[in-house]
Amino acid sequence: MRRRVSVFGATGSVGRNTIAVLEEQGGVEAFEVVALTGAGNIALLAEQARRLSARLAVTADPERLEPLRDALAGSDVEAAAGPEALLAAAAEPADWAMSAIVGAAGLGVSLRAAEHGGVLALANKESLVCAGELLRATCARHGTTLVPVDSEHSAIFQALRGEDAAAAERVILTASGGPFRDWPRERMAMVTPAQARAHPNWDMGERISIDSATMFNKAMEMIEARALFDLSPDQVEVIIHPQSIIHSMVGFNDGSIMAQLGPSDMRGAIGFALNWPDRRDLSLERLDFARLSRLDFAAADPVRFPALRLAREVMEADGLSGAVFNAAKEAALDAFLIGAIGFLDMAILVEHVLDKLAPEAAQSGPDYDLDAVLELDATARRMSGLWVAAYSGGR
Ligand code: NDP
Repeated sequence: MRRRVSVFGATGSVGRNTIAVLEEQGGVEAFEVVALTGAGNIALLAEQARRLSARLAVTADPERLEPLRDALAGSDVEAAAGPEALLAAAAEPADWAMSAIVGAAGLGVSLRAAEHGGVLALANKESLVCAGELLRATCARHGTTLVPVDSEHSAIFQALRGEDAAAAERVILTASGGPFRDWPRERMAMVTPAQARAHPNWDMGERISIDSATMFNKAMEMIEARALFDLSPDQVEVIIHPQSIIHSMVGFNDGSIMAQLGPSDMRGAIGFALNWPDRRDLSLERLDFARLSRLDFAAADPVRFPALRLAREVMEADGLSGAVFNAAKEAALDAFLIGAIGFLDMAILVEHVLDKLAPEAAQSGPDYDLDAVLELDATARRMSGLWVAAYSGGR
């Protein structure tokens, strides 16, 4: 029997790699593709859907339904559009679903796809940052296994296999440090979006690449790790490791450290999630340690990268502060991309919104639903917009 699979965010960086892995591991012979989704890239979505004989292709953008229908003309692929159609696609039963939409827009899809049992391969870290408890509770209720795809969390997941989780003292997330790892803050103040987009090691989508340059991505991953592996904030550490060869580590109560290493290629974590609990051949580069010759490490600096300090505050505050953090971060990035605020202003904006909404985020407590998350997300975005308007007006 073919495995039923769906890929949400199929046209993105993780999505394209997922399609490549599905094709490498048998394509239509091995997989019945239930749904593929995208947003603006209709040509690619239609091409992927045709190649993999998907049952359903969905664009998030309702305006693009007609172009999608045209691009699929003559095929058996059904076209649909809009956020409701995305949720309906996520409600279609599948044995394995990849959640790789970028941003909080992926949250509803993750929650819906978590209702099928089987495996939810999670790249969309926003789902865990904004609503970790809700997502894990949904998975538990429906017998769904959450397998992380973020390379750091995949590494931790792999290092914990067969171990007693209670024996894990700490997790150590590795961070490349991004393109401005050694830059002084004065120089970072002048950074442009084009400079921030250029990640030294990983080839990723634009937003996560810029989040890596501010280290907001690592900050998200700290919160994500805490939510995923039930850790206390002080069990989550970050170390700069410029080569990105060690993807992360777990330290145990006997002093042992388990690390997962591999090339900087998302197909590794995607393939692991696809084949879990087994391993299968993947055509990834094999590490050659003689050529590597060295692995470097340095302390992460929360002064030059305030996102790391803010992540600690979010983990301590708990409640729904992750949703506020993410929404403000997304709004800050939007403002940076259009030149309304500078590179360093992004963290200032996020801190401002976190402070202002701390009471609301705390009141939400552990028993919240998706509506509460989305409401606070909208409030945080509104507040961010006001801050940007006041900032731009004052310049
Ligand atoms: P991309 O920007 O490359 O792709 C995003 C995908 O989401 C595309 O398919 C895009 O469609 C779709 N999309 C965009 N906006 C919406 C929306 N409003 N509603 C529904 N779909 C939408 O992102 P990445 O692949 O880089 O990242 C995806 C997720 O995975 C993020 O959460 C990221 O943090 C995480 N991640 C990414 C890694 C990477 O290597 N890139 C590594 C680890 C985690 P279209 O392109 O057609 O517009």
